[in-house]
Amino acid sequence: MGILCFLLFCLKMGITSLYNKIMDKIQKFQQALLNWYEGNARILPWRDDPSPYRVWISEIMLQQTRVEAVKPYFERFLQEVPAILDLAALPEDRLMKLWEGLGYYSRARNLKKAACMVMGQYHGRLPSDRKSLQTLPGIGPYTSGAIASIAFGAKEPAVDGNVLRVLARLSGNRGDLKDKTVRKDLNALAARLLFRQEPGNFNQAMMELGALLCIPNGRPKCGECPVQSFCEACHQDAVDQIPRKTRKAKRKMENRTVFVIRFQDRIALRKRQEQGLLSGLWEFPNRYGHLSPEEIGKVLTEWGICPETITPLPDAKHVFSHLEWHMKGYAVRVRGRKETCSFVWARQEEIHHSYSVPSAFHAYLKALGKV
Ligand code: SF4
Repeated sequence: MGILCFLLFCLKMGITSLYNKIMDKIQKFQQALLNWYEGNARILPWRDDPSPYRVWISEIMLQQTRVEAVKPYFERFLQEVPAILDLAALPEDRLMKLWEGLGYYSRARNLKKAACMVMGQYHGRLPSDRKSLQTLPGIGPYTSGAIASIAFGAKEPAVDGNVLRVLARLSGNRGDLKDKTVRKDLNALAARLLFRQEPGNFNQAMMELGALLCIPNGRPKCGECPVQSFCEACHQDAVDQIPRKTRKAKRKMENRTVFVIRFQDRIALRKRQEQGLLSGLWEFPNRYGHLSPEEIGKVLTEWGICPETITPLPDAKHVFSHLEWHMKGYAVRVRGRKETCSFVWARQEEIHHSYSVPSAFHAYLKALGKV
């Protein structure tokens, strides 16, 4: 029986002393966690001024991305795009350039779409309730809970993967976190545990506990944990078994041949398709597979390129969540070119300032000065 049902059951049955005991335990848990958070919260750029816009941008950037990686992006983004109005008006190419290297570029596109909706439907102000927030592109149950509670003080839990793990350990839930029923139970527990006077701080404290002590990889630091005495996994000596580990799907391997093609002081770039992986970003021309010298010659002819020299570049690898690219690179100096293919020819400084080239190609971006 979930703790929420159990509390209702106690009330129905008139077992008030048991109910009071549980409520007392919950209050002690909340206090212990908040006291710890007050003394241990990391200083993060979005925490000193939790305005709705700043909280929103930080939460979107933090999806699937480490805090340390987000910090410089957040500062830079806020400097250039300080308000929803600016985001709605930002050209897509500039948005992609600001997002370059953060990955998961659909997050940035959704941010802009949502900003346009906020301008059109909410008079330029983010809505404060969870339901309306979830109508905006890119904002799901967790993000809406985080924005509503942190920026608006709404009494809403915010349960992301980190918090699910903490809750599973606290309650000793040995189920699979991908299981819908398990998630539902843990979400109900989060709602029950929420400190309603300070929902934003409480949610951040749960996240901080998951990030600093109740960590996903390696043994959690239970000896330093402020809520150890409430933790079932710890009592059962089962912190290594909770949450249940599921085997990850194997990443697909893909070989590619990448060309850094230079004609005088210009380098060939092309835009990726509008759908799929890294959609709409700029890349060095490339082909599936590790091409043989004959195949390389054919591809260059197809592109209307007359090579003067072809020099191998170091191999590179890029790991996406579901895919690995193993790349062989070639620097190609061009004698002449036909304007037959869909390349743009950009100067090195233009590439650095204006074209958003995803980090998958960074090994070859670095090589630009040498080719
Ligand atoms: Fe996590 Fe350990 Fe704290 Fe339990 S005692 S919540 S397992 S850090």
